[in-house]
Amino acid sequence: MALTKTKDGKSYELLRFPMKVMNITQGNNGPYSHQGVNALDIAGKDTGIEPTFAPCSMRYKWHDSAANGNAIFFESVNKVMFADGSIDYATLMFIHDNYIGDILALANKGHVFAQWEEFGDEGTAGRATGNHCHFEVAKGKYSRPYDGPNRYGVFCLHNSISADKACVVDGVTIKNGNGMAWKKASQVKTGSSGSIKWTAENGTATFT
Ligand SMILES: [Zn+2]
Repeated sequence: MALTKTKDGKSYELLRFPMKVMNITQGNNGPYSHQGVNALDIAGKDTGIEPTFAPCSMRYKWHDSAANGNAIFFESVNKVMFADGSIDYATLMFIHDNYIGDILALANKGHVFAQWEEFGDEGTAGRATGNHCHFEVAKGKYSRPYDGPNRYGVFCLHNSISADKACVVDGVTIKNGNGMAWKKASQVKTGSSGSIKWTAENGTATFT
């Protein structure tokens, strides 16, 4: 389900929040394992395993070991529009999927994940106490996986930003938004006239 917005006559994909139910169990600078970094732990609707969806059209870049949570990194195919209205490439990192062999097999065949294509899952790979997806997002192309460790011993995605400055929440049920400033596509300020194209489950709607 594509979600795009135009700026100066050019169409950009917005970054969609990567799960259908937002239940943030640890946010930016969280006291358990996010000290000093922008990162979200997303638990979905319950304690089970729910899928993760591609925020934008994206290509696989790199992955880490199972011991390090099967961290997997993607880069947007094109420049995208962030929720703060800026336009740039995006780098995305997801951790804790118990099995990423399916993603890697597709990537080996040159597969490009479409916006909102289901690609991964919550899980407990690495150091996780319950099923969730650890999600980080950065502006710019993928250059290296991590910065750190910082003074708390925490690593983070290079150039990461707060996810509410990146992702829109159209179609997402917010159970716990962690008090962050989540926006829908219609609230993203482009600095010029723009229109939103929202190809949803039940058809296409265009807003201007
Ligand atoms: Zn986390």
